[in-house]
Amino acid sequence: MNILKGIAVSEGIVFGKLKAYRKVFFDAYSVKNFVENIDTEVLKFKDAKKVAIAQLDELYNSALEDVGEEHAMIFNVHKMMIEDIDYSNSIINIITDEHANAEYAVWFTSREFEKKFESMDNEYMQQRAGDIRDISRRIINCMGNNSVSAKASNDKKYLIIGCDDISPSELLELNSDYIKGFITMLGSKNSHTSILARSMKIPSVVSLGSQLKPEFEGCDVIIDGFAGVVYVSPDATTSRRLKKKKELCDKQEELLSSFKGKEDVSIDGQKIRLSANVSHICDIKILKEVDASGIGLFRSEFIFMNRRSYPTEEEQFKIYKNIAKKMGDKHVVIRTLDVGADKKIDYFDMPKEVNPAMGYRGIRICLDRPEIFKTHIKAILRASAFGNIEIMFPMISCLDEILRTKEIIKECKLELDKQNLDYKKDIKIGIMIETPAAVFISDILAKEVDFFSIGTNDLVQYSLAVDRQNDKVNFMFNPQHRAILRMIKMVCENAKSAGIRVGICGEIAADERMTEIFLALGIDELSMSAPFILGIRRKVRETNVKLIKEQIISKL
Ligand code: PEP
Ligand code: MG
Repeated sequence: MNILKGIAVSEGIVFGKLKAYRKVFFDAYSVKNFVENIDTEVLKFKDAKKVAIAQLDELYNSALEDVGEEHAMIFNVHKMMIEDIDYSNSIINIITDEHANAEYAVWFTSREFEKKFESMDNEYMQQRAGDIRDISRRIINCMGNNSVSAKASNDKKYLIIGCDDISPSELLELNSDYIKGFITMLGSKNSHTSILARSMKIPSVVSLGSQLKPEFEGCDVIIDGFAGVVYVSPDATTSRRLKKKKELCDKQEELLSSFKGKEDVSIDGQKIRLSANVSHICDIKILKEVDASGIGLFRSEFIFMNRRSYPTEEEQFKIYKNIAKKMGDKHVVIRTLDVGADKKIDYFDMPKEVNPAMGYRGIRICLDRPEIFKTHIKAILRASAFGNIEIMFPMISCLDEILRTKEIIKECKLELDKQNLDYKKDIKIGIMIETPAAVFISDILAKEVDFFSIGTNDLVQYSLAVDRQNDKVNFMFNPQHRAILRMIKMVCENAKSAGIRVGICGEIAADERMTEIFLALGIDELSMSAPFILGIRRKVRETNVKLIKEQIISKL
């Protein structure tokens, strides 16, 4: 048995077999190998093609359920491309004429087709070059040399992924229905991948470094996502112990379910809203299970991920409208696009930056690219006619950003009026408080908006000068630092004086050790990954705020 110790990022215990997930370096297949038996090679291609088509069918069906026809369509387009006769013939001809290995034949054909698409006049056709590369990569993966495609695995129910690192969009593609857990060499507790893992309830341990070895592939593993420990080829005693621990956790979860439907109110009657952070469409399913009071943070950037081009106004509108309708009269706070830093999206074509967390991200990109921003805002405004939508802006660091944003909202409203399109005229506008600058001018900012939501993930990173992505300094990432608590207190006081609502939507909202403090400070809303809501509800209902208030406040 090998015991690996890392950082626990997502709770839960899971048993399974380890599968390596490697990123494919496509150009590695540009090397041609001579093959003796061309029939075997052609068969290898044909079999891989069949598996790829089956994967795409499966992806199409699950995307159809999760995100609707428009988003699922891409998988059908890929299927049609794979089935294209010219594409297949080209690959088979290269294998037979040149005695080439199948991987090379796919790579070469891909390059030729990509060039053809890229040289076309039509922008839509040019973008298909990327799709050719995608389908070719998929076929090569299906030849069994490379990265696991989770959806196609026979072992799919108990798949545990091991790899160097995993991005938020990769995790979304792998999908929680198939991945039971993941472990990585790199990573940190507050990266967006870890946040996603928590909201998707995928137990995971990161930052294992060189303890995670390629030879562990195929071994039985147990992830203890509470302790941040991974057991490779566990002995019988360890398996028994972890099974017991898992049973205990399952029982705890069952106990918590008795809090469903109960009010979020303290013993002495102080109310607080417990809402959910939504980082992916799958989160909406979990949300129903825990009856959140609403959505306190809808990370809209996930709509922009895992696609090849910007979603249109109509596409976005349909998604926001769908969510607004599903949530009925419960509030849905849509945070506008917060890309940049660790949330990279290829087609945004963003410059390489030395320090991206402090660079071109969030509201800065939106104000710099008003066409994208206006499309986004108009889609949100239109959806607001169908439910209780509010709009929130990330990464605010000065008053001017809000004033300019409000001007843009005004322009968007005028354009919608001209088109006779309906929207909620008095839609509430809020901002995230996640830069120290925003904290210290929160009295001024409070006069311009309807609510604040404190984003402690970034606020901690910027205030304590601790990169939330960097595992070397992770131990210093302390949301309970007195400096942070004082900032939260200041923001609360300024919000209360201006008569506006104040919430917290950073990961600390789900930390039971902090609930009393937040109640004492008069926080109106805590928004967190849905699986944590019932635990916090229990804590709120056990707290007598009046008894602890003076004592807590005097300590800050
Ligand atoms: C935050 O910074 O606390 C936050 C909620 O935003 P994100 O984690 O998406 O950066
Ligand atoms: Mg943030």
